[in-house]
Amino acid sequence: MVDAATLFAAAFVPLMGLLAAALWWGPERWRRWRQGRVEAQPFPPEWRAILRRRMPLFARLPADVQLRVKKRAQVLLAEVPIVGMGGLVVNDEMRVLVATQAALLLQQQRSDALAALREIWLYPGVFVAPQREHDAAGIVHEGLQARSGESWQRGTLVLAWSEVLADAAAPDSGHNVVIHEFAHQLDQAKGEAAGGANGAPWQRSPLARRRWAQAMRHEFGALRMRLAAGQGGGLLGGYAATNPAEFFAVASERFFGRPEALALEHPALWAELRGFYRCDPRWWHGDTFVSTRLDARSA
Ligand SMILES: [Zn+2]
Repeated sequence: MVDAATLFAAAFVPLMGLLAAALWWGPERWRRWRQGRVEAQPFPPEWRAILRRRMPLFARLPADVQLRVKKRAQVLLAEVPIVGMGGLVVNDEMRVLVATQAALLLQQQRSDALAALREIWLYPGVFVAPQREHDAAGIVHEGLQARSGESWQRGTLVLAWSEVLADAAAPDSGHNVVIHEFAHQLDQAKGEAAGGANGAPWQRSPLARRRWAQAMRHEFGALRMRLAAGQGGGLLGGYAATNPAEFFAVASERFFGRPEALALEHPALWAELRGFYRCDPRWWHGDTFVSTRLDARSA
């Protein structure tokens, strides 16, 4: 016969032990421990088959990058629910394609880089959202605007499935809504107190922050001048000139999708993004860059 006090002690003591361990470890270690458990699980073969079918870029990634990307995708799926909107029933193909494209830019970020992201809403296609704009005369125009994605300061990211699918199929286009919205999340992660989304995601060293601010200010200013002079937006496009936050999100799309062109046309911007994302997507795109590199090495 087991009495109530023994039962209580049997349940209470281990629980208190776990709680004490969590407090002693602190949130960061606790997060790493949780994420480590998820990363230790094998990447399901069905998910691998989805990537083979729908995301041609994945097969081109070097083995070490593939591994990091898969682990980041698994962690993202374990931590952030993807919710179907507008009648969409979310399946594994949707979850894997959202998470794996996001993992391209998250692969080298801190484990808490997206701690504020609570959920991802997935619409079947392009959705409409209310829009409020000031024109040059200061008049406010209100209306509806078609969107393929949105990133909110309060932990919600919104995506159109049709665009997620199309972007995964065209990795060299330089357009990618998942990269764009997750770049906004990285930018927003430092919180409203630190300025919210302003095109300057968190960086550890003050020197890196200063160099980043200088390069971005220069490139953003140059793009606005080009547009004002009627020369068009070039590789970055006119939308990047909307504000510094959009500039960073669009530049991130080009960094992962048109890396060679970005490195050639905007070397300073390229260097900052390369330092921030700590990877070189030129290795993943086409074979011109790789063969040039190999020639240079053997010479
Ligand atoms: Zn944007």
